[in-house]
Amino acid sequence: MKRVAIIGAGVMGLAAAYHAAKAGHQVTVFEADHVPGGMAAHFDFAGLSIERYYHFVCKPDQPTFELMRELGIADRMRWVPTAMGYFVDGKLHAWGNPVALLRFPGLSFIDKLRYGLMMFLSVKRTSAGKLEDVSAKTWIEAWCGRHVYAKLWQPLFRFKFYEHADNISAAWVWTRIKRLGSSRRSLMQEELGYIEGGSETLVTALVAAIERLGGTIRLNAPVSEVLSTDGRVTGVVAGGATQDFDAVISTVPTPFVANMVPSLPEASKAAYDDILNIGVVCLIYKLRRSVSPNFWINISDERIAIPGLVEFSNLRPTGDTIVYVPYYMPVTHPNWQKSDDQLLGEAFGYLKLINPELSDADLIDARAGRLRHAQPVCPPGFGARIPPVQTPVAGLQIADTCFYYPEDRGISEGVRYGALMARAIDDPPAWRTARP
Ligand SMILES: Cc1cc2nc3c(=O)[nH]c(=O)nc-3n(C[C@H](O)[C@H](O)[C@H](O)COP(=O)(O)OP(=O)(O)OC[C@H]3O[C@@H](n4cnc5c(N)ncnc54)[C@H](O)[C@@H]3O)c2cc1C
Repeated sequence: MKRVAIIGAGVMGLAAAYHAAKAGHQVTVFEADHVPGGMAAHFDFAGLSIERYYHFVCKPDQPTFELMRELGIADRMRWVPTAMGYFVDGKLHAWGNPVALLRFPGLSFIDKLRYGLMMFLSVKRTSAGKLEDVSAKTWIEAWCGRHVYAKLWQPLFRFKFYEHADNISAAWVWTRIKRLGSSRRSLMQEELGYIEGGSETLVTALVAAIERLGGTIRLNAPVSEVLSTDGRVTGVVAGGATQDFDAVISTVPTPFVANMVPSLPEASKAAYDDILNIGVVCLIYKLRRSVSPNFWINISDERIAIPGLVEFSNLRPTGDTIVYVPYYMPVTHPNWQKSDDQLLGEAFGYLKLINPELSDADLIDARAGRLRHAQPVCPPGFGARIPPVQTPVAGLQIADTCFYYPEDRGISEGVRYGALMARAIDDPPAWRTARP
């Protein structure tokens, strides 16, 4: 039995803690926040318990389903036929199936054929291969032409990644297309999932299982330093107190690592510092009126500075309408300095542009959640830049949401990675040779 510290009680940390405790280790989870769950945590939205950041489940999310089975909550998965829309230059169009593509305005028949073929083959594709070395822009333009990229994709990338927009890895975009494109009931019908009670259901079940297995979760307990002697991890400092450990797993965003682990070689620290993240101000509105029947709306309209919005109540029944508007941006962007109220006002104006029947009287409540490290920026060749999970400090593993690239950050991949890291406590060499 080893004394194992897990840093971060997001899904990756909790999954690692659960599997480590199951393997017989003595586990302590340190979480900086006052609640467990990280990005998947809930908050009380005027009587409704809901995610700070929306979460949907896709059919390929096997690790989530396996974990839910183990935890005895498999019956909480729900599947819903969902629709997608595209708001282009002032008009909302259907999107996300072959008929919608054929009816879509502003693209030639050949454009549509090329786009449809690209989507179809991307879903069928089984490995990233050469996509690892090219940008999404290059890949999409080669398949569909410049016009399609400029009209459909560039606005999505521009309002998420800003100065990085044209240099996003094609492999990363491909896995997103594949995950969503595989979550269908039929060619014509997308089907997405949610966990009854929200992602908190999974987080609560994980916390309960960890505690049942003798583990401890310490909230409001940020780790300020990971300690080591002679190249082997010895403990952590949290809240000014030192606690001894034989193994440490860090799941905090990699930009924190260099400060938290001063004993790492300078080259390792530089590798973590080299990974860029963008932030998000994720707005959530409770409304008396639906914006549209779509779960997801992509946006390409010069008046609107967001790539899309999510009408969550079209997936999970929540009583009133719930709409999330994610403002992704580098935290160096001037908009990051805008107050929550400014952004809430601005984005409510966008909702009114999309549905002109919406008025101030329909607004019940609105909140904003901010994350400085919400999404890693993955340029071409990113895979080669990810440091090994097993660090040069024996007994110390480090990963965050970018480690399972080219998959995008997500609960399912976090769960999968947490399990792998727990297994590697007893079998560390596996991580040195291969990054699964
Ligand atoms: C807007 C948005 C929408 C999303 N939509 C989806 C979706 O639809 N489907 C999906 O599957 N995924 C979605 N995700 C992604 C998903 O939420 C994440 O991939 C997942 O929750 C990340 O879990 P994690 O444990 O890797 O990281 P995190 O959740 O970030 O956990 C890291 C934890 O470490 C803690 N921490 C940081 N520093 C310290 C420290 N020094 N000491 C102790 N603790 C520390 C943090 O407080 C945090 O709790 C979304 C994310 C966002 C932001």
